[in-house]
Amino acid sequence: MQLRKLESYGFKSFADKVELDFDMGVTAIVGPNGSGKSNITDAIRWALGEQNIRNLRGVKTEDVIFSGSSNKRASGVAEVSLIFDNSDGVLPLEYQEVVVTRRIFRSGESEFYINKVACRLKDIHQLFFDTGLGKDAMSVISQNKVDQILNSRPEERRAFFEEVAGITKYRTRQKDSIRK
Ligand code: ATP
Ligand code: MG
Repeated sequence: MQLRKLESYGFKSFADKVELDFDMGVTAIVGPNGSGKSNITDAIRWALGEQNIRNLRGVKTEDVIFSGSSNKRASGVAEVSLIFDNSDGVLPLEYQEVVVTRRIFRSGESEFYINKVACRLKDIHQLFFDTGLGKDAMSVISQNKVDQILNSRPEERRAFFEEVAGITKYRTRQKDSIRK
């Protein structure tokens, strides 16, 4: 599975349509401070189903919608699509290409799509379960996460390694069974 392309409009600082192609290998996004580099990773996490707006550096749900600038009116809607090459079949769908889309209106109404068919947020979460790319996976490490890891207490650091090693779910189950 490989992220091939990101398409968005009205997302955060990107009022107009954005199309980014990701080739094989490493893609670096460079630009001055405040130019929107982190907004691109926010777009990826948001489309993967991130529900905690603080993890996207916002306060209110609609903070992901372009809020206007001196020469452009605010958008009424934000949309992000991620296009995956699924020729290796990692995503449990019978399609070579999988497109995941999330849209939000200023009214607060949200829509989710898999290959242009409306679905629930839960379906998006389930699609990426155990692929290493879900909303809680470590596939996106933000600037504040690096600081958090460097400044963490030993127990917190251990929790981080357990999460990466996939042990957290067993710990949760262990705690549940001890409680019962
Ligand atoms: P740095 O190099 O400092 O990490 P960056 O390139 O990662 O910067 P971002 O944090 O992605 O920059 O972008 C921040 C910019 O996005 C700010 O100017 C902020 O005002 C703008 N921004 C964030 N949300 C919105 C929004 N909803 N509407 C318009 N602009 C927004
Ligand atoms: Mg940044």
